[in-house]
Amino acid sequence: MKYYAGLDLGGTFIKCGIVDENGKVLIKDKIPTGGDRPWERVAADMAKLASSLAEKAGVKLCGAGIGSPGLIDSESGVIVYSNNLRWNYVPLGKTVSEALGGTPVRVANDANAAALGEKYFGAGAEFDSVVFVTLGTGVGGGIVINGKLFEGNRSAGAEIGHTVICMGGEQCTCGRKGCFEAYASATALIRETKKAMKNNPDSKLWEIVGGDLDKVEGKTAFDGLHAGDKVAAGVIDEYVNCLAEGVANICNEFHPEAVLIGGGVSAAGDALMAPLREKVKTLIYGVADYAPVQILKATLGNDAGMFGAACLAMEK
Ligand SMILES: [Zn+2]
Repeated sequence: MKYYAGLDLGGTFIKCGIVDENGKVLIKDKIPTGGDRPWERVAADMAKLASSLAEKAGVKLCGAGIGSPGLIDSESGVIVYSNNLRWNYVPLGKTVSEALGGTPVRVANDANAAALGEKYFGAGAEFDSVVFVTLGTGVGGGIVINGKLFEGNRSAGAEIGHTVICMGGEQCTCGRKGCFEAYASATALIRETKKAMKNNPDSKLWEIVGGDLDKVEGKTAFDGLHAGDKVAAGVIDEYVNCLAEGVANICNEFHPEAVLIGGGVSAAGDALMAPLREKVKTLIYGVADYAPVQILKATLGNDAGMFGAACLAMEK
């Protein structure tokens, strides 16, 4: 049996799991990132975490993988740019590899890595080609074609959150207007929930957040929906409409076997997934029953990045 370390480098925590070639997690742990420290110290901590966990599990590592936020040159393992960590051209892969005594280390963007994790050990396990969409603060994604990660030239691609679904629409963080992310992220859902509440002082949503607009979360509108609130139902309906447009674009571009929906908003489960499936079906190009695309909830949750990083190490 071969063993690998999957390291998920986040803005707050570094998570690591020791995973065998079948995707079984032997042990996992997390430590604070301390991202304001020099990157060399963060890299040293990552290597130390991986080696100490491998030692505790009593196994020798065949390799390690790292999922990192930002633009990553996965060929060289260099973090080209990370807004999150404020890193520029950091040779993370090489540094962690040296600290692990020459163990091979591969690095990729965290959302891309998570897509691999879901493909091999999550909701995509029975498929060859999947697109993973994560609905969080932003909209991230990863594309796996015939079992291989598709990252575009110099791994700069798969930014599915920054494809426009409404020209001249909502301002996006990337500078463009009307991006998928500006409508389908948790941030967008919160924005629309607040807007609807301001326009509807009688909505039950006010009760749900105790009259405090600052307490609105991604799940608030879903809570309202379950409480039978019409305003909340309207917010969710419009949110699902936008999400469906973006997912239908993905289907028309790649026609994968499945689109996997992850991230915080996906926790809503069927209240999100059932109407999303119905709407996407009406939008996809082609004959309805010929090569249907399955729209599934991702299953690995917060561990997708860790599993994905381990997949990188397995050279999947
Ligand atoms: Zn954008």
